[in-house]
Amino acid sequence: MISVEEALKKILSYVEVLEPERKPILDCLGQVLAEDVYSTIAIPPLDNSAMDGYALRAEDTRGAGESSPRYLAVVGEVAAGSMPTKEVRPGTAIRIMTGAPLPEGANAVVQFENTDEVNRKSSGGDLPQIGILCQAKKGLNVRGRGEDIARGNLILKKGKVLRPQEIGVLASLGRSTVLVIRRPIVAILATGDELIGVDQPLAPGKIHDSNNYTIAAEVSRYGGIPKILGIGRDSVQSLTEKIDEGLDADMLITSGGVSKGDYDIVKDVLAEHGEVGFWTVCMKPGKPLAFGVMKKVEGGRKGKVPHLGLPGNPVSSMITFEQFARPAILKMLGKKILAKPAIRAIIEDDVVDTDGRRLFARVSVTRRGGQYRASVTGPQGSGILTSMARANGLAVIPESSKGVKAGDMVDVQMLDWEEEQGEVKTLPIVSIVGKSQSGKTVLMEQLIAEFKKRGYKVAALKHSHGGMEIDRPGKDSWRFAQAGSDAVCVSSPDKLALIKNLNHDLNIEKIMSIVGSEFDLIIAEGFRKSKIPKIEVHRKELGDDLLCSPEELSAIVTDESLDTAIPQLPWGDTVAVADFIEKNFVLKARTVPSTPRGKKVK
Ligand code: AMP
Ligand code: MG
Repeated sequence: MISVEEALKKILSYVEVLEPERKPILDCLGQVLAEDVYSTIAIPPLDNSAMDGYALRAEDTRGAGESSPRYLAVVGEVAAGSMPTKEVRPGTAIRIMTGAPLPEGANAVVQFENTDEVNRKSSGGDLPQIGILCQAKKGLNVRGRGEDIARGNLILKKGKVLRPQEIGVLASLGRSTVLVIRRPIVAILATGDELIGVDQPLAPGKIHDSNNYTIAAEVSRYGGIPKILGIGRDSVQSLTEKIDEGLDADMLITSGGVSKGDYDIVKDVLAEHGEVGFWTVCMKPGKPLAFGVMKKVEGGRKGKVPHLGLPGNPVSSMITFEQFARPAILKMLGKKILAKPAIRAIIEDDVVDTDGRRLFARVSVTRRGGQYRASVTGPQGSGILTSMARANGLAVIPESSKGVKAGDMVDVQMLDWEEEQGEVKTLPIVSIVGKSQSGKTVLMEQLIAEFKKRGYKVAALKHSHGGMEIDRPGKDSWRFAQAGSDAVCVSSPDKLALIKNLNHDLNIEKIMSIVGSEFDLIIAEGFRKSKIPKIEVHRKELGDDLLCSPEELSAIVTDESLDTAIPQLPWGDTVAVADFIEKNFVLKARTVPSTPRGKKVK
């Protein structure tokens, strides 16, 4: 058995970066630039206005203000796309539109909003004159020539992957075509006597071929050009014919026929065409894999075509495609980053992995409370493509482990980043605010105890304006801090403490992400300035006014009746306050459907 890494290394050693081709820029999205692009022009080509307003001399606005307008004579107008015909002399201005070249003599633009133009128009005032209502600095609202791109500079470097913004930069430079690494043509062949085309009715013993479609779609998605060869039958003649058709491609991908089944003659045919190796890769799903190099019979650009023989099971073929074919295609395209984007997530289900292979579990990843959570999408059989359709990631359980338990951290390769795979559940948080001595801490204590009694997992947050000292002198953690470490984290089987030096207050989202998302409710004390829901504790003896404005508050806990529309809860009745929080925050957050937790997956 060989590792995933060994298999990939071997495959990549047979794959070359393809040659460049010149194409219209709009056809190059996602391709790798094969030339250095220099600017032959300056952008913008002339000094121009960044606003609709009046081009003038900054000197002429000295002392101008709302109540002390400086009046200038309007001597002309210039729109974007035309050139100014007049110059701005002392005491004059030219009406100018965004993007229009700055007239000779002008060194600033004052936008309409800072002039009396609107007043003047509505009051039938004198338009040849304009009142400037602010003092302008030289260069105000002026975009300088070459500010974006100076002439003769290297703007885009060879190797850059072209995104919409680079395509736009090329257009702004006046480049209609560009040199990019060519897209690989990937020939795709499904094999098996049981397969029939999507447009044919099912017959006994037959199934529709899906692999050709999945694989072709993946080839396109990652930048290749798929060439579907159709379905090869389990006979030497049929397979030979089909494979011959694929030999002018840059790569051949077959699916099926590489395991130990009686009819698996793909290997024999492949061996006829060139070198071929059959590997048992230490992964699940997708153990059997063939890789070889086919000789080209005649013509074509190159003498050799790398061949990847994926397993037939639809999920196995897709997962092996992601691990091996995708990097090969990216390498041919000239890309440097071949690994799939990966994140760390908390797995929400137990996953058992006892046979020592690297397990790729189909998961749906959502982000909640600042953390990624991965939940298994259902039965993991290698033929169950719908659990792949529900997944947006593959949790990677290493071969060295026996599996993971719900709550463990796992690496997840992201299949895509769309968050639509599952509704995002937000972690309920409420903050108790109030004047000093109002009894916030007592209420917090009572609420925490009440929610624990109700069976909830609670985290408490406290904001401490005046700093804090929590380390105990003499303890190891204290000694590390004394020695100058910027953070000390103490971990034990039953507690975790993190003491980190900061030079500013963290925002509440950041704090929540550090606290973690395994809680049912976070109750905070303070954090008055953050935008989380707040309940204010109000005490008659501390005065009539409230600390927070009414629109910030979800409720008031008070010992007197107040004249306000905000819900009021009696001070001293913790059960009523807890009921309010439970109904409005904890249970509301749960109305979003989520997959049941704690499923066991093999
Ligand atoms: P094989 O690797 O040829 O033994 O195939 C393994 C399993 O995958 C069998 O159940 C096949 O029917 C199935 N299979 C193979 N090729 C395809 C395909 N193109 N589309 C859907 N299922 C396939
Ligand atoms: Mg087969």
